[in-house]
Amino acid sequence: MVTTCDVVVIGGGPAGAMAARIAARHGLKVCVLEQHSLPRYKVCGGGLVRRVHDLLPQDLGLPMEHYCTKVSMRFQPDGRQLDIETSSSVVNMTMRDQFDAALLASAERAGAKVISECEVLSLQPAQSGIELATSQDIYKADYVVLAAGAATRLASDAGWSESLERIPALELEVDVDDDTLARFQGQAIFDFGVIPQGYAWVFPKRRHLSIGVLSVNRHKPGLQAHVRDYMRLLKIQPLREPTFHGYVIPVRPRSRCLAQNRVLLVGDSAGLADPVTLEGISHALISGELAAQALCDASAGRVEVTYNQLIDQQIRPDLEAAAVLARVLYGPAMSSARFGGAMGRRAVAFVGDVMQGKRRYSELRQRRAWRVIEALLG
Ligand SMILES: Cc1cc2nc3c(=O)[nH]c(=O)nc-3n(C[C@H](O)[C@H](O)[C@H](O)COP(=O)(O)OP(=O)(O)OC[C@H]3O[C@@H](n4cnc5c(N)ncnc54)[C@H](O)[C@@H]3O)c2cc1C
Repeated sequence: MVTTCDVVVIGGGPAGAMAARIAARHGLKVCVLEQHSLPRYKVCGGGLVRRVHDLLPQDLGLPMEHYCTKVSMRFQPDGRQLDIETSSSVVNMTMRDQFDAALLASAERAGAKVISECEVLSLQPAQSGIELATSQDIYKADYVVLAAGAATRLASDAGWSESLERIPALELEVDVDDDTLARFQGQAIFDFGVIPQGYAWVFPKRRHLSIGVLSVNRHKPGLQAHVRDYMRLLKIQPLREPTFHGYVIPVRPRSRCLAQNRVLLVGDSAGLADPVTLEGISHALISGELAAQALCDASAGRVEVTYNQLIDQQIRPDLEAAAVLARVLYGPAMSSARFGGAMGRRAVAFVGDVMQGKRRYSELRQRRAWRVIEALLG
């Protein structure tokens, strides 16, 4: 069977759900194809920085797992701690299966059709459109929004030859006793210096802790050993052996355009995670929104150009500035003690403002701090 629609969205994560919701609300016939049955587990810390909340649909109707009014950035081994603390929450915690399902439900209410257990196998140009072979039917669409996450290879079908630059990350959902749970209430902890060129985290959820590690050094991460050492350091004793979930995070946007040949890349498929915090949900939502804006507003033949312009104006400058800061933070020569000093205090305050949507990374270039950052990079 062949199903025809205006837009096929590949992937039911935040980027795809956002694009589908807005495009459907503007009257386009939208199908979301998701390979897994829904709701599906997603390897993720589930931390939603405050700026994400302004982007969420009003009808989301999802209570958060936990609200954190404090973010602690600690620099091991000396334990120096820099806090971002506000009266309202800085980071809220969610479980991604519930969060993504709520976003998709919102897209469905707007008129999008969500088809689960439908893996897209390939894309190819068809007459005035694009044809998708899937594990179910054949789909034909005027445009495709590729929102299939960081591990997809489908972008190559649409002409992107470069592979995404990605780093490994490991995450565990850890059941702990009530006393341990209470120790981590209300704060999201990022520990630098416990793993080379990366960080470890503890995010409190309603009834358990999400614990993880990541490293920008792709060659010798040893993530399992690091996360076990980290739990020992924090005296966290799991009540039962947790499952290790590994996945990848993109650290650089694709260098060329993000739309061509009727395909628009969004979220992790476009490489839009924040290179400093490695948080990816906010740019997934924003890029989904920008893709829908281009699909709805641009005249025929201008959709790709419009989306590329929107990305170049609204996302790329921030990611380029953030990438420079990330090179300092995760560079092999940077000692955690050095970053924990005066420069560290300013940098943490700045990143806290970015998380809350009060500042943008691109503003860094206008600050004196930029000269310090460049000097540190030699
Ligand atoms: C360990 C870890 C911890 C993280 N913690 C955080 C955090 O705390 N906060 C934060 O903001 N970000 C975090 N991130 C990053 C965040 O998970 C991603 O940036 C975000 O999920 C990107 O959303 P997306 O919609 O682009 O892609 P995804 O959420 O990856 O969604 C892609 C969807 O596409 C589907 N799909 C893939 N291929 C196909 C196909 N061929 N056909 C059909 N469907 C397909 C997948 O099943 C999936 O549902 C973390 C990442 C990792 C790895």
